[in-house]
Amino acid sequence: MTDRSGLPVSVPVRTCVGCRRRDSWSALLRVVAVREEPDNAMNGVVVLVPDPRHRLPGRGAWLHPSTTCFEQAVRRKAFTRALRLQAGPDVSRVADHLETAGRTSMTTPITTDHDRPTEGGSDADEHSMSTQQ
Ligand SMILES: [Zn+2]
Repeated sequence: MTDRSGLPVSVPVRTCVGCRRRDSWSALLRVVAVREEPDNAMNGVVVLVPDPRHRLPGRGAWLHPSTTCFEQAVRRKAFTRALRLQAGPDVSRVADHLETAGRTSMTTPITTDHDRPTEGGSDADEHSMSTQQ
């Protein structure tokens, strides 16, 4: 028998840090911890930021873009562990992101950005430098 399911075998799968279920990475929101240096830095504040376009460097954690999974992850300090942080990060930006996304979810288009083949890693986007003269 031939496997004719038609499913691509190469879809990367990640584990949601909230519900611990595995899912296609395109169904999950990537979040990364960014160290912010405040002016009066006693010690840097670690802020958790959403990275829906997978552009930020560093260690990322994956989460279903739902407040349920987010709250579970926060409650279980899953971000702290997944991102190897010393202390709990400031998660307000991710909370904001999810709240906004939740409100507009009816019209949120499914991103197919990463289905595009990358051409040498230099695909043009809004960060084009060509405007500098
Ligand atoms: Zn989840």
